Amino acid sequence: MNNHSPSWHCIQQCGACCRLCPEERGEALAALSEDQQSIYLSMVGADGWCIHYNSGARSCTIYSERPDFCRVSELGTLFDVPSDDLDPFAIACCKQQIRTTYGGRSGVMRRFNRAQRTEGDRHE
Ligand code: SF4
Ligand code: SF4
Repeated sequence: MNNHSPSWHCIQQCGACCRLCPEERGEALAALSEDQQSIYLSMVGADGWCIHYNSGARSCTIYSERPDFCRVSELGTLFDVPSDDLDPFAIACCKQQIRTTYGGRSGVMRRFNRAQRTEGDRHE
């Protein structure tokens, strides 16, 4: 762990990573294995959001069963990221997802940035 970098924290009421729209997520999608890509593409709904996403609650309806690419604990393996770089990598991924989903100046982005400096809800 790099002590000079903030540690990654997921925030409640975000869900930006559940917007799977392949046109917006091409780079991340291309980096996944064929198996994970197939699972990913099978979950894209007509509106671009995951079919397992509850948009009202902004939550996952299959949380304990969600695939590997939804689990930050698996990011290192999936994207070949060294463990020391995982927190900055996860933060950069979240910021990209939040920016494309809600906007760079959105309230969600502000809450996310605050949470990286303070304690938040850490979802593995
Ligand atoms: S903070 Fe990151 S991991 Fe958590 S819901 Fe938002 S985009 Fe997903
Ligand atoms: S399976 Fe759950 S965590 Fe993964 S993208 Fe769908 S709603 Fe989000």
